Amino acid sequence: MQIGQDMVAVVTGGASGLGEAVARGLAAAGARVALFDRDAEKGERVAAEIAGRFHAVDVSDAESVRAGFAAVVDGAGAPRILVNCAGIGPAAKTVSKGAAHDPALFAQVIGVNLIGSFNCASQGAALMAALAPLGADGERGVIVNTASVAAYEGQVGQVAYAASKGGIVGMTLPMARDLAGHGIRVCTIAPGLFLTPLLKGLPQEVQDSLGRQVPFPPRLGDPVEFAALARHIVENPMLNGEVIRLDGAIRMAPR
Ligand code: NAD
Repeated sequence: MQIGQDMVAVVTGGASGLGEAVARGLAAAGARVALFDRDAEKGERVAAEIAGRFHAVDVSDAESVRAGFAAVVDGAGAPRILVNCAGIGPAAKTVSKGAAHDPALFAQVIGVNLIGSFNCASQGAALMAALAPLGADGERGVIVNTASVAAYEGQVGQVAYAASKGGIVGMTLPMARDLAGHGIRVCTIAPGLFLTPLLKGLPQEVQDSLGRQVPFPPRLGDPVEFAALARHIVENPMLNGEVIRLDGAIRMAPR
């Protein structure tokens, strides 16, 4: 799908990191970008810089997502592009100091990362399905989810995070199949190590050591490189139902 001028795009987690880079990239390509995030301060700032709109949305709450999409439709129209980047990654082992993993924490991670992606994708797709088809293929919209290489090589302490990202990987093909008749494509990016605020908070030597673990190029990924792939997925109609690793060939060690 060509990113037309004024095409509406929703980016979750758009206030920071990978989502922010995607939002900036889509805005530069001409889209009207709506940010869904729970961080209003950063979200408003990014939205102002890209002439977009910020919506305070908790993706894990279906009603909050509904209100966010309703505001987008009112203000700009139904989206043709949705990029799900909102996510959290607290660390906790299955058993630690004799105590079982807090089930509420496990549920929270699944709630934000997996159910949050599902809420936005399913509700976004319902809006896309009502739009006019575009071009020779009759495309109506594109959804890009964000998993992680932890879906395949979750490290010690990542049991909840890896389960949530594995769920996104598993959701990708059936969702693409469900939505094929509507002309809506679904792909997922599984990033390796990217230099976002999370990793920027680590000491430089730790960042350098993490970067050296990447076979080539031996450095942390730049969020702009993630945004470039998200844009390519939107623009390439043959990409559908696939999970693409974007990781410089890293395979994470147990710890
Ligand atoms: P980040 O913390 O910089 O950005 C995540 C954004 O999501 C934040 O703005 C946060 O406010 C928002 N968010 C969190 N919970 C939310 C909720 N319930 N509702 C709405 N917004 C919410 O992180 P990032 O590094 O940019 O990560 C983005 C995505 O990429 C995440 O899903 C993460 O798991 C995934 N990922 C990142 C890396 C990496 O190396 N940075 C690697 C693999 C996967």
